[in-house]
Amino acid sequence: MAGEPQADCLFCKIVAGEVPATIVHETETIVAFRDINPQAPTHVLVIPKVHYPDAATLAAAEPQVIADILREARTVAAGDDIEETGYRVVFNTGAGAGQTVFHAHLHVLGGRGLQWPPG
Ligand code: IMP
Repeated sequence: MAGEPQADCLFCKIVAGEVPATIVHETETIVAFRDINPQAPTHVLVIPKVHYPDAATLAAAEPQVIADILREARTVAAGDDIEETGYRVVFNTGAGAGQTVFHAHLHVLGGRGLQWPPG
């Protein structure tokens, strides 16, 4: 059922504590943890505890949780002291956009200069 944990989902396992992660913050609805392959000094993933394959399906079903995720980006930035220097938030949506884990997640990137357009 939509929103239910998926047995074969890596990020559901992180939510359940079955796969270790460097968790920086957790609330009732989201978990924020450091990316295992960081692309910047700050690279944190913010994920919903509920399972949806991408941000679009999450936004359609549970828009409040998307708001929680976006609010968390600022908390992450404040915690890593990158609010002043700036940071980027990205939802890769679909394999063609580089999505590899099909549990919705927000990338929070910062701590170095970031180029535009992205690759
Ligand atoms: P995507 O390419 O937008 O789907 O992002 C998936 C992200 O998950 C990548 O940046 C990976 O480095 C990251 N990742 C994959 N496995 C783990 C893990 O076990 N812990 C933390 N991050 C992970």
